[in-house]
Amino acid sequence: MKNKQIHPKNISEAALILRSGKLCSFPTETVYGLGADANDDNAVLAIYQTKNRPNFNPLIIHCADMEMAKTLVDFSPLALELAQFWPGPLTLVLPKKKTAPISDLVSAGLNTLAIRIPANKIAHELLKATGRPLAAPSANPSGKLSPTNAQMVIKSFENKVPVLDGGACEAGLESTILTINDNEIIQLRAGAIAREDIEEKIAKIIKIAKQDDKISAPGMMKSHYAPSASLRLNVNNPNPDEAYLAFGKTQNLPNPIKNLSPLGDLKEAAKNLFSYLNELDDGKIKKIAVAPIPNQGLGEAINDRLKRASTPR
Ligand code: AMP
Ligand code: MG
Repeated sequence: MKNKQIHPKNISEAALILRSGKLCSFPTETVYGLGADANDDNAVLAIYQTKNRPNFNPLIIHCADMEMAKTLVDFSPLALELAQFWPGPLTLVLPKKKTAPISDLVSAGLNTLAIRIPANKIAHELLKATGRPLAAPSANPSGKLSPTNAQMVIKSFENKVPVLDGGACEAGLESTILTINDNEIIQLRAGAIAREDIEEKIAKIIKIAKQDDKISAPGMMKSHYAPSASLRLNVNNPNPDEAYLAFGKTQNLPNPIKNLSPLGDLKEAAKNLFSYLNELDDGKIKKIAVAPIPNQGLGEAINDRLKRASTPR
């Protein structure tokens, strides 16, 4: 089979694929995205089909810059304040402009769009070269672990989708998603920027959307980001038949073990989370025990993903 990895010096090749209405996976600072021209119905449809994603679950649109973003959504003063975190791993759900050049399939019939400007240099250059907003959910089959390197994308789509290879993702967790409702900021998904860090910088409180809120992200499904093996959380002493996903100092164990961060650093743990889960989830191991992760800062997003990954399907 022809290997579909594209070297990052050939960004124009990836841009050409996208401009011709085909899918191409690309790196961002969060996870690898499965990109398509956001204004091409067939290309967007191909995202849903390739991922086997329910079509009521809308997609995040990636923009090269503020100029492109402003053609898609309306920015209130508060939204502009939040946009100071761009480029970066923050997604804003904002009112869609009637004139937005975006396929209706992207927003799954909602009158809002989820957009962000990624900080990853290769993603930025690709967006510039393509010259169009790109719809790009994580490049994994729906419900499975998000890919944080090109090999994970190749493996999960059996080499059917070309991948612009930018190495390992810097954050390793999906973006934080915020929306604004009646001048209140609401977090729809915890992610690669910690809520506390945003609150501190803008000196405002961010509310957390509840699972059953009407406003909640359709992607906040209970089971998501799941490996094939079962997960048991908050485990200090794994059983003999479990692989162990450790965090911080651990005693010597006979179990297969990967340590998210031996020094107990949450940023390092976030970066390693999906790739280590993927490595432990090799098909032979049926049970994975996970060490307790402190629930502050990025720990909020890490625990969110672990909880979903451990929910029985
Ligand atoms: P993914 O692209 O796989 O990281 O998932 C995108 C996330 O953004 C999902 O949780 C979606 O439900 C959410 N999302 C996208 N567009 C909207 C929107 N217009 N309103 C609310 N949530 C959205
Ligand atoms: Mg995803």
